[in-house]
Amino acid sequence: MSTNDTGFAVLQAPTQAATGPQPKNTRPTEGTDPPTYDQMSLKTYIFGALMVLLAILGTSVWLLAPYASPMLTVFLYSIPANCAISLFPHEPVLVDYGTAGLNIWGIALAATLGTLAAGFIDYKVFAPVLNLKRSADRYRDKNSYARANHWFYKTPFLTLAVAGFSPIPFFPFKFLVFASKYPLPKYLAALALGRFPRYCLLTLAGYHFNPPTWLVLATFGVMLLLVYFRKILELSRKLVVRLAGKANPKTAEQPDLKVYSAAMVFKSAVKAVRNIRSGRPLCVSLEVTHNCTANCLHCDKGPVVEDHPVGPDVYQKICQDLDPTLVQIAGGEPLMRDDLADIVRSVHRPGRPPFIAIITNGSLLTREKYLELREAGANQFSISIDFPDARHDKWRRIPGLFDHLSELVPKLVAMGHGDIVLNACFHRANYRLLPEIAVLAKAWGTKLNLSPYTDLRTNNKTLNLRHPADTEELDEIITSLYAPGGGSETVMTSEVVMRRFNDFYKTGFTPGCQAGQRYLVVNPDGTMTPCAMHTKTRYHSQEELLEKFVKNNQCGECFISSRANTEKSFRELLIDNLRFVSMSKESGRRAG
Ligand code: SF4
Repeated sequence: MSTNDTGFAVLQAPTQAATGPQPKNTRPTEGTDPPTYDQMSLKTYIFGALMVLLAILGTSVWLLAPYASPMLTVFLYSIPANCAISLFPHEPVLVDYGTAGLNIWGIALAATLGTLAAGFIDYKVFAPVLNLKRSADRYRDKNSYARANHWFYKTPFLTLAVAGFSPIPFFPFKFLVFASKYPLPKYLAALALGRFPRYCLLTLAGYHFNPPTWLVLATFGVMLLLVYFRKILELSRKLVVRLAGKANPKTAEQPDLKVYSAAMVFKSAVKAVRNIRSGRPLCVSLEVTHNCTANCLHCDKGPVVEDHPVGPDVYQKICQDLDPTLVQIAGGEPLMRDDLADIVRSVHRPGRPPFIAIITNGSLLTREKYLELREAGANQFSISIDFPDARHDKWRRIPGLFDHLSELVPKLVAMGHGDIVLNACFHRANYRLLPEIAVLAKAWGTKLNLSPYTDLRTNNKTLNLRHPADTEELDEIITSLYAPGGGSETVMTSEVVMRRFNDFYKTGFTPGCQAGQRYLVVNPDGTMTPCAMHTKTRYHSQEELLEKFVKNNQCGECFISSRANTEKSFRELLIDNLRFVSMSKESGRRAG
């Protein structure tokens, strides 16, 4: 951003503004100018402190002595009610002063002057703050900002005056004013022109209609709720987690950290409901290769195979058509694909589902690869672990793998993104070690997801838990793991689901499989199968899968976590996902 001689800041980055017709109120963009940034100065801090002091003063006077000096109170109250971080609604208060039979024009004028004071201080604080490099880098290159700025600068003064008068939210206009440093005198003049008649109308409405106090208070309450909606949403989320997490009280008390936004959780929840109702999958697993760097004793992947892989464009089309809530990028070992970042990019939709998880054994994962995939849009890295020590290497048949993970994982966790999960498939050879694996996850600062072994991949039945000798022991392990202080604070898998896993081992069968509907696998060649165990018949669309497999599916011979997680009730999905968000934030907070 460069500043011209009239005090305007001219955008460098926006494509449309730079290539199309220039806004009337800005100088033509000089594409070769380097972008310029502000720095925090003492003046900015002083205005920031002044804003806080006036907010406290205005709120206190209004609460303690609302009618001692009405004009002064309205003036002072209008500052916190109109500053950029607006604390309270303004409208019901003006209506209330109107009912008191005071000088209507005087009240409206006092409110306008308070609004102008707020606008002046706002400008002095937020114009520099929004033009700091770290702030500007977050919006200057965005097309949405370029477009908004382009349209705003067609008639900025009139736009501000109309927006100031109308009930539409004013903060987007403030943002454009501060970000582009629209001239302060013009901004204040437009503000006065729009706000004064609006305040007159509000005060007049109070005077003429004389609404009962309860109605004014109720309106105030509703508007306050709207202002603090996000905070209320966050508190509600914590409350739900607390109520649902009786067996795991530590999780409920975890502090807040913005690793995943409440908005993303909300969008994902809405999407999950829509997909369940419309028959679309919740989870699609893209098995981008069937080659693997490991040769695990519990898995059928490992040797080199010719799997005819499709490219990112095919995955993009498939994910657009299926529109799932969660995309797992798995294999084999997905990091064997050189174009993995492109695949992630092709599926990623900024600020919208799907949530993208990469399932890896970690052998090819490095700090650089992690950053590249994160940048491409990966939301989670799920790293397999079978044993809490070097026995892991023997099981995976990769020498030195455990040491590699011991060194790498804590470093990735220390970046504070809260996106690393350990993924343990448990079976007869390692189920007694689950508490130790949970301790390892805690020591590394990660979360832990658990999934029961299925013999359908290898036909090795000796790894199944035997009933009742093993399943009774697993019951005891679950009880002690999920007891307060038992070590489950890092375990994403809920106690209810763990008990279902053990029930599966007891009977060897869990009916009601919804593979192909709520969950499906896309093979490296772009064909679909209901799960990774039924791979002989390949399908070319979900419709074909539904018609030829799902309708007649009686299989219940596995209960892997992908199946268990997509067959939860909506209530379980919501609670477990909220708990997952809390755990991610806690993991990020600890790292930070
Ligand atoms: S129970 Fe469902 S997910 Fe498991 S093997 Fe059978 S069809 Fe596949």
